[in-house]
Amino acid sequence: RAKEQGRAQVCFFEPGMHDQAQERLSLAQDLQSAVAGSALQIYAQPQVDGTGQLVGAELLLRWHDERRGAVPPERFIAAAEESGLISRMGSQVLHQACATLALLARRGRQLGVSVNVSPRQFRQADFVQQVRAALQGSGAPAQQLTLEVTEGLLLENWQATAERMHELVALGVRLSIDDFGTGYSSLAYLKKLPLYELKIDRSFVQDVPQDDNDAAIVRAIVAVAHHLRLHVVAEGVETQAQADFLRQHGCDALQGYLYARPLPLAQWLQSLESGPG
Ligand code: C2E
Ligand code: MG
Ligand code: MG
Ligand code: MG
Repeated sequence: RAKEQGRAQVCFFEPGMHDQAQERLSLAQDLQSAVAGSALQIYAQPQVDGTGQLVGAELLLRWHDERRGAVPPERFIAAAEESGLISRMGSQVLHQACATLALLARRGRQLGVSVNVSPRQFRQADFVQQVRAALQGSGAPAQQLTLEVTEGLLLENWQATAERMHELVALGVRLSIDDFGTGYSSLAYLKKLPLYELKIDRSFVQDVPQDDNDAAIVRAIVAVAHHLRLHVVAEGVETQAQADFLRQHGCDALQGYLYARPLPLAQWLQSLESGPG
């Protein structure tokens, strides 16, 4: 019966689907030249602690294509993940992060840098070796580097993922669960993995304090995190009311347009020279 349906569906193949596949292919091709050239840029978005003090930044990729204009990361990261290009892109970001940390350390600034690691990048056979080499090559302080992964990573190959996480933590780096609470994974992993941080997804932050459900979810995440001795960051903080609520309920760090939009990494580094941030 399923087979029958499957066959029937072939008849419904629409011309639009062909265009979509074509478009995905062309996106991947353009992205490939972007990675080889200099059309990909690394931006930094500051994070502050409960007192508003700068504590670090998350690095975010930006792609400005001549023809397409600014392509949203959600789109090109997915394309890069599909085509495998993500590994090269991720490795570039990782090296920039380490160079940045080494520079900050030379300037005597104790700031953290977070990078996003996609599932495919994380599962690369030599990923741990890549991180080790990036740290050693730059002299970056490992404990200031945070690797953000999403819950999706935990759905498959649990044993291998857990082992890899332990290897990474042994290098000294910190692990963070990005977009926490939006995946389909269970909470059981929280006590089993060597995590440092949970990052509350923007979708929960958006409507606090007025939405009772979101307020309850945020309070619950902070409570769970702190009971497990995990650091909690809220992302997408746009208003003072959100910030007040999050701080009042114990969020350790905040990130969002209220403090700063992502800005070119070089510009962020420059802004640090002119003041304590
Ligand atoms: P993410 O890691 O959850 O990053 C946070 C996203 O929220 C960023 O979007 C950031 O610009 C945005 N954001 C920050 N503050 C605010 C705010 O106050 N309001 C609103 N509306 N948005 C805010 P962005 O830069 O578009 O990145 C989207 C996603 O793309 C990231 O989500 C991450 O999953 C992925 N991504 C970006 N760079 C990389 C990368 O280098 N490697 C990998 N694997 N993924 C990346
Ligand atoms: Mg992130
Ligand atoms: Mg996030
Ligand atoms: Mg997000």
